[in-house]
Order: sequence, then C-alpha cells, then structure tokens
Amino acid sequence: MIKLRVIATGGTIDKVYFDAASSYDVGEPQVLPLFTEANVGFSYEVESVVRKDSLAMTDEDRALIRARVMAAAESMIVVTHGTDTMTETADALQGIPDKTIVLTGAMQPARFRSSDAFFNLGCAVAAVQLAAPGVYIAMNGQVFPAHRARKNRERGRFEFADPQPEAGHE
Ligand code: GLU
Repeated sequence: MIKLRVIATGGTIDKVYFDAASSYDVGEPQVLPLFTEANVGFSYEVESVVRKDSLAMTDEDRALIRARVMAAAESMIVVTHGTDTMTETADALQGIPDKTIVLTGAMQPARFRSSDAFFNLGCAVAAVQLAAPGVYIAMNGQVFPAHRARKNRERGRFEFADPQPEAGHE
C-alpha cells in the first residue's frame, strides 16, 4: 500500500481564529480531518514539526523541517506550510536524494467553510505520488518545480516565476 508522510509546519491552513481577541492560534494539523473526510485509500503518518505562521519561521525551524524530512522512512513527503515563505522552506529542502517532497498550504483556514485547503491538499497528494524525486509546490491547481514558483500577493495565488511554455503541456 502507498504510504505518505505529512509534515505539518503550521500556516493559515491550520489556523483557528478568535473573533473577540482578533487574533489566531495555529492549531492541530488539519490534514487529519481532511484525509478522514476524503476517505483516503493510502496509509499515512502525520508529524507536527512547527506550528507557526510562516512569516515567523526561522532558519532553525527550516533546519528542523529538513532534518525530519531526511529522517522519514517514506519517500513521498507532503509538507503543509504557510504560503508567504513556502518557497524559502522549499529552497532549504533541496538536495535530499530519493524523496519526492511537495509543499502545499491554503490562503484560507481549513476550518473555514470556503477554503482552498481541501483542493490544494488533494493536488499535493496526487503530485507526490506521480512526480520524480525533487521539491515541488502544489498550489492553486498547479504543480511547480519549487524553484520556479512564486506567490503573487495581488492575485492571491502562486504562479510561475519564469512563465515559459512547458514542452508537452501546452
Ligand atoms: N502569513 C501567512 C503564512 O505564510 C500567509 C497565509 C498562509 O498561510 O498562506 O503563514
């Protein structure tokens, strides 16, 4: 049976908002209820490594995430992460042999009724099973080799940093 590891690092996907305080906590990894809701047919481990908005993530946090990816027995790794510094963590994960690593997240918390979390996570789960070893970002319905992705804040989505036609895909 296919086995994936999910390394949860926080970000908006896992946020819980408190109206009265106008603040938030980064809560439990939301992949667990999403996988349950989807009745997934693969087996998985979920490991919560960091619980932060990604703007607060440090080099030490990224070193820890890299160490946990390297220590994983699985070759297919999904990393859930805040979108603002997802590309920085992707850079920190380059060069790990024999693993397909796919980072994903959400611009709206998974706890919100209208959230991109389910769609993005599903896309990441598909990508991690199909892509060659390397580091990818799965967001907004596209799978990017990580070094080619960037977040476009105005549009609220990820896009190719170097928009060139992909041979065989356009
Ligand atoms: N500041 C947030 C973060 O990067 C942006 C929203 C998100 O998670 O996508 O954690």
